[in-house]
Amino acid sequence: VTPLHMRKALGRFASGVTIVTTAECEDEASVHGMTANAFTSVSLDPPLVLVSIANRARMNERIRETGRYGVSILAGDQEPLSLHFAGAAHQPDLVRFVWRKGVPLLEGALVHLACTVVDSHPAGDHTLHVGRVERLWYDDGHPLVFYTGTFRSLELQGRDDPWG
Ligand code: FAD
Ligand code: NAD
Repeated sequence: VTPLHMRKALGRFASGVTIVTTAECEDEASVHGMTANAFTSVSLDPPLVLVSIANRARMNERIRETGRYGVSILAGDQEPLSLHFAGAAHQPDLVRFVWRKGVPLLEGALVHLACTVVDSHPAGDHTLHVGRVERLWYDDGHPLVFYTGTFRSLELQGRDDPWG
């Protein structure tokens, strides 16, 4: 199994797109963010989620230092933000943070989770950071989708309420 085959196979697993954020203190100068699709729900009681961060990413060390992180699940029109936080296109003017529980999150996202790290597991060339969700917020809308290395917007067949 080669890395290329892994990407080709796992790229066929459609995912949403998140921006993971963290900050030393409630000051925009201390915020660090990065794009991640290796995010999953883990447990409802207690409320746990997981992000998988490359060991070489700056974010990994930052999460170790702060012990908390935010997850913003992006809306369909936020592809430029996802490119910005992957270092693939520089668009700092689009970046606006809101703060929840001392954690920075991206304005305009569908979901905000403010998490405290409860466990960090080394896993190959990544580290799995399990976070307890301390506060959450969500809105209705169309999510940004990542599939076969490209971005799509999921249409909900004219319904405003995705559960309707
Ligand atoms: P950098 O590369 O230094 O920062 C990322 C970018 O964010 C830079 O352009 C920086 O200018 C900008 N930025 C950071 N903080 C701020 C701020 N406060 N204000 C404004 N701009 C800021 N990697 C993983 O490890 N796990 C994943 O699950 C994952 N999923 C991905 C999914 C997609 C769809 C894409 C496109 C990439 C994914 N990546 C993932 C790769 C990851 O996003 C990049 O490797 C990223 O560049 C790593 O970030 P870094 O922490 O090393 O920081
Ligand atoms: P891609 O074709 O590389 O991604 C397809 C799928 O492969 C991803 O959804 C993910 O499941 C997997 N994947 C890709 N790179 C990985 C990595 N380094 N570690 C673990 N799994 C990985 O998509 P792309 O448009 O070429 O990606 C743009 C950049 O973002 C690349 O540098 C890619 O490595 C990185 N990326 C990293 C991860 C990750 O670290 N988990 C996930 C997605 C994209």
